[in-house]
Amino acid sequence: MKKIIKYIINHIPRPVIQRVAHLATRLTAIFYIGNKVECPICGHHYRKFLPYGYTVVRENALCPHCLSLERHRLLWLFLDNYMQLTEQKEITLLHMAPERCLMDRLESLFGDGYLTADIESPLAKLKMDIRNIPLAENGMDIIFCNHILEHIDDDQLAMRELYRVMKNGGWGVLLSPVNYSLAITREAPANSTAEQRYKLVGQADHMREYGLDYADRLRSVGFEVEEIRYAESLTPQQRKRYSIINEIVYLVRKR
Ligand SMILES: [Zn+2]
Repeated sequence: MKKIIKYIINHIPRPVIQRVAHLATRLTAIFYIGNKVECPICGHHYRKFLPYGYTVVRENALCPHCLSLERHRLLWLFLDNYMQLTEQKEITLLHMAPERCLMDRLESLFGDGYLTADIESPLAKLKMDIRNIPLAENGMDIIFCNHILEHIDDDQLAMRELYRVMKNGGWGVLLSPVNYSLAITREAPANSTAEQRYKLVGQADHMREYGLDYADRLRSVGFEVEEIRYAESLTPQQRKRYSIINEIVYLVRKR
């Protein structure tokens, strides 16, 4: 069974998993019945989560019900407990390249105020290029943009666009994979091949490998940035129960 699951998640692209295999992973849940781990997003509990990962397979990673991974569960706990997101009323929320596991909750919380956007995902309501967002300035109370900026050739342009459409007084979470042992971001040349990018920045579809200056890059377009190690405020039992990874949450604000 484990081998079949590993085969599916390592050979079928995540967007396809999100659209179709979603139902298949729910069927596999029967083999994972239990109450040792819990997904704070969908509320389901299991013996353990499914294994997941493209190059290195991580055990205990994927929620069979909503497809959340460790970083999504950490983000949700942060949004719910630290930012009190679920208590916000009548807000506008822009969710770039929306993660399926968060969409249902956000849709039911904010209804018409919740806007999903992506350049290609069939899950999104608005089709758009993050470098040229077709929205008015100062329109969004909250923006989520996770694991996008590392793919964009001109990330500064994308950051400026996110800043422009955020309301004064608004906030957002802009997460990217950051190599915490790298001081300065390593860029791949604009005309590099997939193979060169793989060698230079670790992934063929990434334009750069962000280092610890990621927050400064966000500051350079005007955001105030807080780097929060939210996982450290949880108990070891909670970290184990939700199966999360200790990543920095980059919280941005526009004054
Ligand atoms: Zn879940």
